[in-house]
Amino acid sequence: MANYVDEIKRRRTFAIISHPDAGKTTLTEKFLLYGGAINLAGSVKGKATARHAVSDWMEIEKERGISVTSSVLQFNYDGYCINILDTPGHQDFSEDTYRTLMAADSAVMVIDGSKGVEAQTRKLFKVCAMRHIPIFTFINKMDRDAMDIFELLDDIENELGIATCPVNWPIGSGKAFKGVYDRNTEKVLLFSDTEKGTKEGEELDLSINDPQIDSILDPGQKEKLMDDIELLDGASAEFDQELVSQGKLSPVFFGSALTNFGVETFLRHFLQMTTSPLPRKADVGVIDPMEEEFSAFVFKIQANMNKAHRDRIAFIRICSGKFTAGMEVFHVQGGRKQRLSQPQQIMAQDRKIVDEAYAGDIIGVFDPGIFSIGDTLCMPGKQIKYEGIPTFAPEHFARVRQMDTMKRKQFVKGIEQIAQEGAIQIFQEFNTGMEEIIVGVVGVLQFDVLKYRLENEYNVDIRLEPLPYEHIRWIENEDIDMSKLVGTSDMKKIKDLKGRPLLIWANAWSVGMTLERNPGLKLSEFGR
Ligand code: GDP
Repeated sequence: MANYVDEIKRRRTFAIISHPDAGKTTLTEKFLLYGGAINLAGSVKGKATARHAVSDWMEIEKERGISVTSSVLQFNYDGYCINILDTPGHQDFSEDTYRTLMAADSAVMVIDGSKGVEAQTRKLFKVCAMRHIPIFTFINKMDRDAMDIFELLDDIENELGIATCPVNWPIGSGKAFKGVYDRNTEKVLLFSDTEKGTKEGEELDLSINDPQIDSILDPGQKEKLMDDIELLDGASAEFDQELVSQGKLSPVFFGSALTNFGVETFLRHFLQMTTSPLPRKADVGVIDPMEEEFSAFVFKIQANMNKAHRDRIAFIRICSGKFTAGMEVFHVQGGRKQRLSQPQQIMAQDRKIVDEAYAGDIIGVFDPGIFSIGDTLCMPGKQIKYEGIPTFAPEHFARVRQMDTMKRKQFVKGIEQIAQEGAIQIFQEFNTGMEEIIVGVVGVLQFDVLKYRLENEYNVDIRLEPLPYEHIRWIENEDIDMSKLVGTSDMKKIKDLKGRPLLIWANAWSVGMTLERNPGLKLSEFGR
């Protein structure tokens, strides 16, 4: 009994969010290195090395050498059991990236110290903010010349609307980067260069008043530090764990993932300050993770991992209790009992079959085509439904033309199934039927995935005609009369598969214009 509670308490399940190239992969590798999950950093993504990525399940991934889907890495460190949800960021940015955040209990935001907040950070942050989960900031690449730190913090506060509280403070940047000053202990953590790819960096922990410091720091660096700290003490928000837990205050850390400066001290602080698995809202009320009875929800569906079969793997986030392999669970939306077969977990480079898993963990289970994103699994005899996962705004749209009209049935089946897995969203013109299909995706690569999969799995050729729309909103007013809506010239009225009305525009400013022209109109960036 106590055993499973302890297991849940030591879990930390989080996502790392960042703009491409800010250093998310490098930081993840260093975390894994500390956890002993890999021997040498540099094997997570296998960009430079010939090694395959963790999630090279689909043929298209191998062809392009990138990973289309996100994956989960689990490892142990300092008594904690850590689950890192990988959020794909480059061309493989997709709706899955957003959905993955729904399975996380907190987020680490990696920011390039020379660039500040960038576009993708902003998008991912929005989703975390919507969930009010704790967000921790790691300002990376301090070994390169960074922006003015106060400006950087202002940038985060103004752009993202979250207060910041630096836990430590950098001493210099670029070639002059010497280490970080811990505001709590008033000690300076000095770094000497580490051997690339190892964790044996020499760190020196000295009191700020230690005379040794003067010989290590450049002339004027200590004075600058003291000035900065004085300014900071007067200007920045005080550390408040409660506000951190509510996602209103982000603790900030500085370092360099590449050279391993400040990574371990960040990891330690983060693990202490972040949360163990959070309670989750269900239709019957909030479910505590420590409840003995197993429950989980599906947040991602991955098709055809094995090309020989039309298998799907449903990724579930366990929300309460303990999972044991072979266990019979109740699939609420399907209304049936189900034995979860081939439960698997991803440990650094390998997938392995799991015997047990606990609230906070993510596992992949075999899906014979019955699960949908957002579905709940719980113990037979219990009926709970977790809050669904919202649909996230696609940013690219295309009209789909089917080349061989004789294959209409296969086409509809294929495109609907792929939409059900959540790779794409399909829409129709508001006033016409299924013959006009508009596809919306979060990342353009999903267009290729759609075309590829329809050809390879359903034997259907399509042509995609790009549409100029980039902005989409769900209409929240239930009693709306779509024919009376006054739009802009670049607006189109569409509906999704559930018949919900939406609007799409080519220009960002048209969204506001439409709101102005239709008093009372309520628009949402998330489809619920
Ligand atoms: P991701 O796209 O966010 O996963 O970024 P990566 O971890 O792949 O890093 C992008 C590039 O920045 C790579 O060339 C890294 O070696 C480099 N990089 C990552 N962290 C640091 C750092 O702390 N300092 C410097 N100078 N380069 C870094």
